[in-house]
Amino acid sequence: MSTTIFALATPAGRSGVAIIRISGPAAGDVLRAITQRDLPPPRVAARRKFFGPSEILLDDGLALWFPGPASFTGEDMVELHIHGGPAIIAAVAESLAAQGLQHAEPGAFTRRAFDNGKLDLTEVEGLADLIAAETEAQRRQALRQMEGAFGRQVEAWRGGLLGALARIEAAIDFPEEDLPAGLVEGVDEAMRAIGVEIAAALDDDHRGERLREGLSVVILGAPNAGKSSLMNALARRDVAIVSDEAGTTRDVIELHLDLGGYPVLLADTAGLRESGNKIETEGVRRALERASHADLKIIVIDGAVWPVMPDATRAQIDAQSILVLNKADLLPGPLQALAGHQLIAVSALNGSGLSELLAALKERAAGLLASGDQPVLTRLRHRESLEDCRQTLARGLAIGPVELKAEELRLATRALGRITGRVDVEDVLDVIFREFCIGK
Ligand code: GDP
Repeated sequence: MSTTIFALATPAGRSGVAIIRISGPAAGDVLRAITQRDLPPPRVAARRKFFGPSEILLDDGLALWFPGPASFTGEDMVELHIHGGPAIIAAVAESLAAQGLQHAEPGAFTRRAFDNGKLDLTEVEGLADLIAAETEAQRRQALRQMEGAFGRQVEAWRGGLLGALARIEAAIDFPEEDLPAGLVEGVDEAMRAIGVEIAAALDDDHRGERLREGLSVVILGAPNAGKSSLMNALARRDVAIVSDEAGTTRDVIELHLDLGGYPVLLADTAGLRESGNKIETEGVRRALERASHADLKIIVIDGAVWPVMPDATRAQIDAQSILVLNKADLLPGPLQALAGHQLIAVSALNGSGLSELLAALKERAAGLLASGDQPVLTRLRHRESLEDCRQTLARGLAIGPVELKAEELRLATRALGRITGRVDVEDVLDVIFREFCIGK
């Protein structure tokens, strides 16, 4: 017998309206008790007074009744729309607890929706991502996943493999030499075709994962080149320490930017140079470590000394870099180009060139993140299971005996089933639901 849970679904604090959600078998009885009236019609907002123990009036608001199974969790659910004041919320919560309802754990409502087959695991993840989305492109991707785009794709592959498995299992009782003509070839053909589609989905440059996590961009350059000033200018707010003394940005400072809908995680780093100072050397080590994992590098070159460029800076230039010549206001003469590279001249001081830099950054971000309307994998978990499936299919194709082929097929469908949560996923559930806050 399932418990009945409740939680504040809106953020804590003061607000015009706060919503308390209730889910479980006692939801209807509790609504009757707290309103001292019969249930309102399903899924229609009804004006109600809410009463506490000994019939004291707690608040005046709206009640919604969602009888299961046509509810978010699949269970009977209630929503109380009350005024968003801490004392009101506390009084209503207390009165619900007094009726035996339990405070929901983070993600408990969504967990029940999953357990009742309302959402598959990819849809659960899509919902978590949707709530976490900070930019437009992230919102679109999360919504597509929550609506089941990726889950349906995975289920279609799984359906194809299950069909092949059914055929091969039907044939297993035949002696090897009496197998129906073309059966094994047909099964191999299905495995091969699905394997090719999965390989294509895996070959996606990690677009979905990158979009979900934000593009990692690191600012590199010599001390005093103007990295912190550039970061500040880009942020238009003070996030890094700007100082005349070389080598003050010793750690990595991060900034989240929304570049035309694409999320960018910009990190300022310690200036690249040899130093006797232990802390500074550690800063440089972290800067290089960070740069080695970054999707893009903004390499800041000091315009005051251009065309001289320190070796440590030059060594970082590669296909992932955007070269920025800062302090353009101090350029001694006309801009000297750098053979084979595009140089964007900016001045962190007076703001010139910053819009060109942002445009270049946005273009690179779009190139790395945009995925059109195709369903995409958004997590390492998806990638690992698809990779597992692809390899298992390849093994199955290379195997002659039908029993062994059938076993590989079974493993391949299982790998796909783990993505949507059809099979043995207990171990990943906690990780996935931990991402949710209370009331979701
Ligand atoms: P970092 O060590 O690379 O982070 O460099 P900072 O941002 O601390 O800047 C070093 C010095 O250069 C500071 O005195 C800044 O005011 C100055 N600076 C930074 N950008 C510009 C610029 O575009 N023009 C001029 N004239 N000075 C700048």
